[in-house]
Amino acid sequence: MLQISKMKSLLFIPPKHLPFHQNPNFKKPTIFFSQISRHTHSSGPANPLPRPLSAMNGVIDGRDFTIEDRSSTAAAAAAAAPPFGEIHVIVGPMFAGKTTALLRRIQAESVSGRRVAMIKSNKDTRYGLDSVVTHDGVKMPCWALNDLSIFKAKMGPEAYDKIDVIGIDEAQFFKDLYEFCCNAADQDGKTVIVAGLDGDYLRRSFGSVLDIIPLADSVTKLTARCELCGKRAFFTLRKTNETQTELIGGSDVYMPVCRKHYVNGQVVIETTRNVLESGKAHCNSALEAATVV
Ligand SMILES: [Zn+2]
Repeated sequence: MLQISKMKSLLFIPPKHLPFHQNPNFKKPTIFFSQISRHTHSSGPANPLPRPLSAMNGVIDGRDFTIEDRSSTAAAAAAAAPPFGEIHVIVGPMFAGKTTALLRRIQAESVSGRRVAMIKSNKDTRYGLDSVVTHDGVKMPCWALNDLSIFKAKMGPEAYDKIDVIGIDEAQFFKDLYEFCCNAADQDGKTVIVAGLDGDYLRRSFGSVLDIIPLADSVTKLTARCELCGKRAFFTLRKTNETQTELIGGSDVYMPVCRKHYVNGQVVIETTRNVLESGKAHCNSALEAATVV
């Protein structure tokens, strides 16, 4: 194979004092192209379609050269690679039907002939670890994991290669959500459907769910019904005084609320907490005083 610069030198460089076409030493190069396929398919059609220039052997001034057909190499590599996947994200407050929506989509994919797998966090043990269960009792078998990175090894690489669709429930509990979704959709060609809380009880971003929005093909925000007025509920109000971000619970701990009742509810809960804490402090100081006496 000759480099382009070498090819140019073969075409002849005219002296500076003469225009190119007036130079007596100039002679038109003879260029003949032959199709690579013609050597291997001599019984082909009489006038086959010409291949692109980059795919041809050539002769310039009696010297052979070959230009590699990189487009066909790339096409073969692309055909061997899995197709690109998709990422769909379902968010919303608690009791908005996120798990129900996720199960419906996964079941629809399964009915259409695609192979599916479901994952949930092993932190949520409310309905056991072997299934994803909706608040109204619909269930589906699942993998309960601490990290998504172990899913492929746990399932087995061969089984992983065969699945087309991966559902992830309670996605806010997975710290490696971004990396997993990126690899599954971009490299492995999987359709990933993710359901999780977008915000915690203080309406702050929860886990990595919002981080995958830029990766997503679609984002669906579901709403619930405000437990206090029946209007659309966008937020989750924690009814208890615990302050840790991750506190697993159902309707005994949380309720969906509209904006008005979230704001009012937070005021009531914070006031209650302050009263309780000051009462506790008062009790402690009274106890200390009693001990000293
Ligand atoms: Zn309300």
